[in-house]
Amino acid sequence: MADLSNKRIISVAITGAWPTRKDNPALPITPQEIADSVYESWKAGAAIAHIHVRNDDGTPCTEFERYKETIEAIRAYKDCDICLNITSSGGSLGIDDGNTSAQDESRIKPLRELLPEMCSYDCGTLNWMDKTIFENHPRFLEKLGEFCNEYKVKPEVEIFDAGMMYTAMRYVKRGILQAPVHFQLIMGAAGGTTATVENLVYLKSIMPENCTWGAAGLGKAHVPIMMATIAMGGHLRVGLEDNVFYHKGQLAEGNGQLVARAARLIREAGLEVATPAEAREILGLTRHVE
Ligand code: ZN
Repeated sequence: MADLSNKRIISVAITGAWPTRKDNPALPITPQEIADSVYESWKAGAAIAHIHVRNDDGTPCTEFERYKETIEAIRAYKDCDICLNITSSGGSLGIDDGNTSAQDESRIKPLRELLPEMCSYDCGTLNWMDKTIFENHPRFLEKLGEFCNEYKVKPEVEIFDAGMMYTAMRYVKRGILQAPVHFQLIMGAAGGTTATVENLVYLKSIMPENCTWGAAGLGKAHVPIMMATIAMGGHLRVGLEDNVFYHKGQLAEGNGQLVARAARLIREAGLEVATPAEAREILGLTRHVE
């Protein structure tokens, strides 16, 4: 097997659930805009696209049909082999009541029907941005873990604070998550850990040895966390979901611009940007749909 230790994967989080056109007019909203932004990001060096969907008015959307339309628009770019990572947050980000079995099903259905290679797996509940509860009930996490195991969709285990890492390790012991786990450290969300290099070093220190990981600092911590992550051997996540600015007071032109900066930083560090094929090998992904 080729040595992939000098490769760094760039994930791009295209829209998320929260940023609006008021925050940044370049935010992709419609399925076609999201697909175009994924394509532009892939060209700039992204190997994974993390997908949420929106209604036409920009509000967060939980409708399966909208996911379907969006994923089909991305897959219509036949030359683009980017790995797809669909959010499992569904309507849990305070959009409606997350605590029902029907809600669990609506969060899993897009994954089962559209078979991305990855999905987000938020390993705990938190007070989200001082606005709402981002609810990930143990019942839901068990169902989602079972789904991932059965359908070979790789969970990207999102960690907002240290407790979630320990939960993930318990789930590995119980067989709900499979090693090697892929962690995505999301730092700087109000309600989670702050985005400092000290906290990044701490989270890395409690990770199990047999894992892969990436990190993203939200907002102004974006670039410092990216640089520290490169230095510490992690993969990167960028995108308008996490950060609508390029520099302080200067809005990002789009996801492609944020990906291009990450790619430059990786190369300046003497490393290489992983292609989607290399990302599949590094993370052990199963490609269900060409
Ligand atoms: Zn997300």
